[in-house]
Amino acid sequence: MEDQKPRLAVFKFSSCDGCQLSILDLEEELLSLASVVDIAYFVEARRATAPGPYDIALVEGSVTTPEEVERIKEIRANTRFLIPFGVCATWGGVQAHRNFMNFDEAMRRVYPHPEAYSALSTSTPIWDHVKVDYMIQGCPPNRHQILEVLTNVLVGKKTALASNSVCYECKRKGNICVIVARGIPCLGVVTHDGCGALCPTYDRGCYGCFGPMDDPKAASTARQWWVLGVKPADIVRDFRRITPYAEAYNKGAEVYEREAHQS
Ligand code: SF4
Ligand code: SF4
Repeated sequence: MEDQKPRLAVFKFSSCDGCQLSILDLEEELLSLASVVDIAYFVEARRATAPGPYDIALVEGSVTTPEEVERIKEIRANTRFLIPFGVCATWGGVQAHRNFMNFDEAMRRVYPHPEAYSALSTSTPIWDHVKVDYMIQGCPPNRHQILEVLTNVLVGKKTALASNSVCYECKRKGNICVIVARGIPCLGVVTHDGCGALCPTYDRGCYGCFGPMDDPKAASTARQWWVLGVKPADIVRDFRRITPYAEAYNKGAEVYEREAHQS
């Protein structure tokens, strides 16, 4: 019976829609999911929408406008389990570079008529505004991790994705470490797992698109990069590239910030 199924909603804030596409990428599993939940609100997938309350809300994107500040509070009030997914929702995303810029000047550079837009000078994650129940990182998030969290919530199991580093995934795949073997700077040491060590598998360093793992000790990794010969300005840039709002990565950037400005 349709009205007895848990009600799922998927919302978009400031973002590129890629996280929602990860849900659609579930393909066959999406049909199984749709058979056990009522997809009440998911405008990227279906035209019909139904108002809350919802049992589960997945939220893509960061908060960048005054309207979004109010909207996320309304969603929270109408939702049992609120789950930000993707690095925009969990860490403010790449658009959080604005947090460290002259916002008015950035607006003038981007828009011919900046006065036509109502925007905040910051891009912030969902947890900066309301309590969240779980988080799923990644740009975009891993569809299997999305399914794992949804399944656990649906069966009433306490869920928390383990916060391992990408290095764990390299070890599981038998990758030869690109830092150790080839001297390539890699952020996998401090980055949340979930991608299957995609970049190191193809002999590239990780650039941190899954956001930081818990307590990553980024300062030590930054020092290791310096030993490899990476210039301070490049260390600062790379540690802030994808999730500049993430304090955990900033601890790595801060070690070389002064030298970066002097060089
Ligand atoms: S290649 Fe990168 S992610 Fe893989 S083990 Fe080495 S440092 Fe870790
Ligand atoms: S290795 Fe790093 S940059 Fe590459 S996909 Fe994985 S988390 Fe993203």
